[in-house]
Amino acid sequence: MYHPPSAPLVPPSGLCYANRFGLHFLLALEEVMSKNGANATLIMSGLRQFVHQYPPDDLRRGFDIAYIASICQGLEDMAGRAQGRSISKRAGREMFSERLPAFYDIIPALKMRTAASYQALALHAQVEAALPLLDQLIISFDSPHRGTIIEKPDHFVYTMHQCPACFGRSADSAHSAHGGEQPMCACVSGMLDGGLKWFTGRYLEIVESQCRAHGYTHCVFEIYGASESPAR
Ligand SMILES: [Zn+2]
Repeated sequence: MYHPPSAPLVPPSGLCYANRFGLHFLLALEEVMSKNGANATLIMSGLRQFVHQYPPDDLRRGFDIAYIASICQGLEDMAGRAQGRSISKRAGREMFSERLPAFYDIIPALKMRTAASYQALALHAQVEAALPLLDQLIISFDSPHRGTIIEKPDHFVYTMHQCPACFGRSADSAHSAHGGEQPMCACVSGMLDGGLKWFTGRYLEIVESQCRAHGYTHCVFEIYGASESPAR
C-alpha cells in the first residue's frame, strides 16, 4: 500500500519566501491542474498541511524554498519526469504572468511596467530592465546572492546562485553527466517566461543551459528573442 511522505521531499532549509509568494504559487498550481490535482501534488510532496489551508496572504517569511523544490519533485513522482516538469513550468509561468501585482509592496519597482516611459522602450531595453526585478522576486527568500545578468550579442544570460526548483535535489546518477539529460528547473524557466510576458507582452525563448543538480555550480538560463537584430 502506498504511504505518502509525512515530511517535505526536500528537507526545509530555513530560507523562506513571504507566505504570499507561497500562496500565489499554490494558486497558480491549482489554476494549471485543478484543485484536486494541486491537492494530490501537495500530498505527494509531503506538504499535506497546505491541502486545506494555503499560506496566509501576508509577508511573514513562512514558505521555505524547499517547499517549491518538494512540489517540483512531487510533480515528477506523480506525473512522470516530462509531464511533471511541464506542469511546474506552467505553474511558474501562470504565477508570474498573472500575479505580479500582488508583489508591488515587496518590489515597488515592478510598477514600472505600467509607466508610459517603460512601454515606450524597445523590447531589448524592456527585458534588460525587467530581469533584475524578476531575479529579485525569484530570490526573495533572503538569499545572500543576487543572480547575475550578462548581456551577450543576441541573448541574455541569467545565472542563479540558489535556485528554488532544484534546491536540495540531485539528478539521477545515471543521467548526471553534463548534457546527458534535460535540466530540471522548468519551474524557474516558467517564472522567467511568464514574468517577461507580463512586462513586455511577448513570449521570449528561455533555455536552461546549466543546472546545479546536474553537477554545475549554478543554474543558468539563456533568454533569446529580445534582440532587434535578425541574427537569430
Ligand atoms: Zn535549478
